[in-house]
Amino acid sequence: MIPAQFDYQAPKTLNEAINLLAQHPDDAKILAGGHSLIPAMKLRLAQPALLVDIGRIKDLSYIREDGNQILIGATTTHYQMESSALLKNICPLLPECASQIGDVQVRNKGTIGGSLAHADPAGDWPAAIIALRGSMVVTGPSGDRVITADDFFVDLLTTAMQPGEILREIRIEKPQGRFGQAYQKVPHPASGFAVVGVAVTLNLASDGSCQSSGVGITGVASKAYRATAVESALGNKKLDEATIADAASHAADGVDANSDLHASGEYRRQLAQVHTRRAIAAAAARAR
Ligand SMILES: Cc1cc2nc3c(=O)[nH]c(=O)nc-3n(C[C@H](O)[C@H](O)[C@H](O)COP(=O)(O)OP(=O)(O)OC[C@H]3O[C@@H](n4cnc5c(N)ncnc54)[C@H](O)[C@@H]3O)c2cc1C
Repeated sequence: MIPAQFDYQAPKTLNEAINLLAQHPDDAKILAGGHSLIPAMKLRLAQPALLVDIGRIKDLSYIREDGNQILIGATTTHYQMESSALLKNICPLLPECASQIGDVQVRNKGTIGGSLAHADPAGDWPAAIIALRGSMVVTGPSGDRVITADDFFVDLLTTAMQPGEILREIRIEKPQGRFGQAYQKVPHPASGFAVVGVAVTLNLASDGSCQSSGVGITGVASKAYRATAVESALGNKKLDEATIADAASHAADGVDANSDLHASGEYRRQLAQVHTRRAIAAAAARAR
């Protein structure tokens, strides 16, 4: 398939990119790794007149610590996330999630910012960033604004970003104390996209009871969501088998589950419950 004709610009700075978007408010699109946008263009589902390639902007690809936060530049690739020694040490959920995205080619080109901005209902990153209570720094003609993960994902392929804005950074609070994390996924056998994906992060007290939890679920509904009923059911309880099973049974409470060629809504709800139970158990077992 051949995309419709388009112009291409590769700005060197974020300001140049913002200006280009402002000059073409209706027909420009940002190009990051191109692994969602280019397939859509080839199918002519997207026909931008101008691609603004942010891949040449310096200082948009990084993973670093800043006080009690982890800062991730938007064009950091899935592979850089997967292979980061820093993340493996301080927030292993992120490399674990990255390692399960697509295949090696997708991970080498695709970016965390592109994935979050695209808001594919079967994308992996939204679940992890919701579980970690991360936030997105978006920038536009009027400067930066910070949007929490809970507010960022609005609907199918829709985020809280305004036209002309660029996602430039993802911020995560560094996990502290006795914590455990896990990502459990049922991948589509061809693409690797999540039929269901569950990200869990737990903080445990010294007696092993739950102090706090974060549960993000993707693949089930039109957008990734926080499983608040699971988090409430975990409360401050001791994480024995019965408590985990009971909490996980709420994984799809109040959710309108997607039915499609790959799985019925009922099956997705069942998968969400099973994999939430497994992810909580794995996170609890890893907590140290
Ligand atoms: C074969 C295949 C298998 C895949 N499997 C998986 C999988 O298992 N799990 C998974 O999660 N994903 C999967 N993907 C998608 C992949 O992770 C994409 O890389 C990702 O969704 C988009 O990131 P990108 O950098 O390629 O963005 P692009 O394709 O360049 O852009 C995607 C969209 O986001 C916008 N955008 C990009 N960056 C920004 C930014 N910084 N600010 C604002 N808007 C921006 C673009 O304008 C575009 O609308 C797969 C893709 C393919 C082709």
